[in-house]
Amino acid sequence: MTRGARSGHRGPRLPAWLLALGLLLLAAGVLLARTDWFSADDVESSAVAGRATVAFLDVGQALAVAVVTADGHALLYDAGNSARDVREVIAPFFEERGVTRLDYLLLSHPDQDHVGGMPAVLDTFAVETFLDPAVPSTNLAYLETLQRVADRGIQAQRARRGQTLALGEHVRLEILWPRDPLLRDESGDVSDNDNGLVVRLVHGDVTVLLTGDIEAPAERALVSLEEGTLRAQVLQVPHHGSQTSTTPELLEAVRPAVAVISAGAGNPYGHPHAEVMNRLRAAGIVVYRTDVDGTVVIESDGTSYEVRTQRGWSGER
Ligand SMILES: [Zn+2]
Repeated sequence: MTRGARSGHRGPRLPAWLLALGLLLLAAGVLLARTDWFSADDVESSAVAGRATVAFLDVGQALAVAVVTADGHALLYDAGNSARDVREVIAPFFEERGVTRLDYLLLSHPDQDHVGGMPAVLDTFAVETFLDPAVPSTNLAYLETLQRVADRGIQAQRARRGQTLALGEHVRLEILWPRDPLLRDESGDVSDNDNGLVVRLVHGDVTVLLTGDIEAPAERALVSLEEGTLRAQVLQVPHHGSQTSTTPELLEAVRPAVAVISAGAGNPYGHPHAEVMNRLRAAGIVVYRTDVDGTVVIESDGTSYEVRTQRGWSGER
């Protein structure tokens, strides 16, 4: 009785040094976190309720984009390289937001740096619908993904241009690419990069374009198909900033204010390429990179959006 009362009394009292350390860490966190605000004021305003979060997760030389809406809906576009990316980055992000179920699991294309973590995602979260371009592949993680989707009775959808999906009440997903017949290279092969899933996320006035690893041929086709309607405030720079992507024509059609590159620090491919970085800078686009900034989070209220980065301003853009 006495002990209980004593420990109850003692509970909230922390040693002064611990309190000081806590405050110091809090201050450091505030200083390190960086937020930039952008307004989608170049488009007509339409009132949208609810907020939406789009996070370009830092999964190294790979891609994983998580979307969570205020009305409790969520999706994942690509799943990083491995189960470790899921365990250390993807699952904690969703768990912090109370997400246990994904409305959509989207795969841009079946390359390891996009599909690698997908079996682990399916082991961790309930998934309603799986969408992918259904381009043939022998990638083991892709085959495991298809097996799990089938075993669990998850709805599988072959993603093609023209399909539209609702993520809750306020976010719309428009599938812009691929389309039939699939794009073939000069040797007649179906390139999985160039037939990757391109999604336009629309939240009121705020638009985010997710492009996977598409390269110049798919960019050209998309620009001509969209005929001036490819505008987006936020662009996921295709193919980790590779020289084979982000053509001047794509940038001219999208005219983003913000570009996000998912790349691993010191990756052997030299991503992002200097030429692409120069092109983005010359167009006056604010560039965020997961290798420099860590996870990059876009918070939208449907009219404007802010960008928060896991790490502070590095000076290198
Ligand atoms: Zn890739």
